[in-house]
Amino acid sequence: MDWNEFTDWGHKVTDWARDYHQTVGDRPVRAQTEPGEVLTALPDAPPETPEAMEDIFRDFEEIVMPGITHWQHPRFFAYFNSNASAPSVLAEFLASAIAPQCMLWQTSPAATEMETRMTDWLRQALDLPRDFAGVIQDSASSATLAAVLTMREKALGWQGNQQGLFGQRPLRVYCSSEVHTSIDRAIWIAGIGQQNLVRVPIRGDWRGMDPVALEKAIQADLESGFQPAGVILSVGGTGTGATDPIDQCLEVAAKHELYTHVDAAWAGSAMICPEYRHYWQGIERADSIVFNPHKWLGVQFDCSAHFLKNPDDLVKTLAISPEFLKTHGKDGIINYSEWSVPLGRRFRALKLWFVIRTYGLEGLRQRMRNHISWSLALHDRLAAEPDFEIVTPPMWSLWTFRFVPPSEGGSYDLDTLNLRLVNAINDDGRIYLTQTRVDGDLAIRFQAGQFETTEADVMMAFDVITGIARGLA
Ligand SMILES: *Cc1c(COP(=O)(O)O)cnc(C)c1O
Repeated sequence: MDWNEFTDWGHKVTDWARDYHQTVGDRPVRAQTEPGEVLTALPDAPPETPEAMEDIFRDFEEIVMPGITHWQHPRFFAYFNSNASAPSVLAEFLASAIAPQCMLWQTSPAATEMETRMTDWLRQALDLPRDFAGVIQDSASSATLAAVLTMREKALGWQGNQQGLFGQRPLRVYCSSEVHTSIDRAIWIAGIGQQNLVRVPIRGDWRGMDPVALEKAIQADLESGFQPAGVILSVGGTGTGATDPIDQCLEVAAKHELYTHVDAAWAGSAMICPEYRHYWQGIERADSIVFNPHKWLGVQFDCSAHFLKNPDDLVKTLAISPEFLKTHGKDGIINYSEWSVPLGRRFRALKLWFVIRTYGLEGLRQRMRNHISWSLALHDRLAAEPDFEIVTPPMWSLWTFRFVPPSEGGSYDLDTLNLRLVNAINDDGRIYLTQTRVDGDLAIRFQAGQFETTEADVMMAFDVITGIARGLA
């Protein structure tokens, strides 16, 4: 394809994207395909000769699109949303046209310096103190891995990378039972071992870590000859929005000089609104914080903002030639590949620049406030229905519920019934929900956060949920 032909197709693709976004609400949210359908539709072997773009594009519509779950659908209430706002899509188009590698300052000075500026805009938007420096990681999982590697190296006197973990005292890392699985995987990959990830009990409505139990767990480990290395805290966990008491847990960690990482992958975006910041009171004492603009802030995947109190610790852990850098993150040049596990890096700051300028912080705040208030209104309506029960209360726009119809003499298994309900809802296609487990029992999650969603979209969930549930009972 030459670049003139590219222009024609570029226009077609832009029109297609506009139509898609304007009509995606008419499609079933979750893909309705069976496993293997797309695979069978794709030829077994690659073509030896060129094919026309007309044919490729037709197949894209006929084979690919039916097998897509529509994350940009206004009634996507499953998982957490991963918004691709129009300015973000444009910025990604430009970034992919330039396709720079942003690993070192000199391999893309504008990308590096824009990353410094954009992460500082985000720092200000969250009202974090000036002594946090930011980097954009590909995902929260990567940021958490980088933080766990840092806590490991710090605890081992910076010898782990060199000597390996053989013969070392076992390191211990503490988190609650509610953290995301990316924490477990970071612990595995860092060589710390699942058995050394200590699950501290939770308490209260926020399902947050009990700081007294944290202190006890650390004490017990010290007495048994383990070496505590760090604490990982959750703000807005994936299942139910679990949020640890940051202030008190960081206090315990500070007493034992443990490195701390806060996973606010989803809820961190909402901290641009001052009224939600009480959820992470004391956050300024954390060593490392991650949140995903690629979830709720309108910036498409991938774009994970990672803030560090002392980037030197991270650079000491990850830089392969640290002597090249005299200062890290304060002045002079930054080579961001020394702040992350992968060497190659995309130009991710560009879409933040486009999105923050297009909406302004106030426009972004308004969207979140709408999502949260519409979600609360739905919660109140469902809570008033006698055959539904709220399992966990709203944390931002997320809460969980169960269908509990009267048993009329017989008995039924609530988990099975609710799993049937969630599957029936997703087969119906008007909305999309996912389930979680709360203290072992199945609960259905609801959260709102899609950029184009309206109050009517959220309220439609009431009719769909109650209608389908009562049809099953
Ligand atoms: C989504 C999520 C993650 C994982 O985010 P990725 O960017 O996909 O790695 C981690 N923690 C929480 C709480 C999340 O909601």
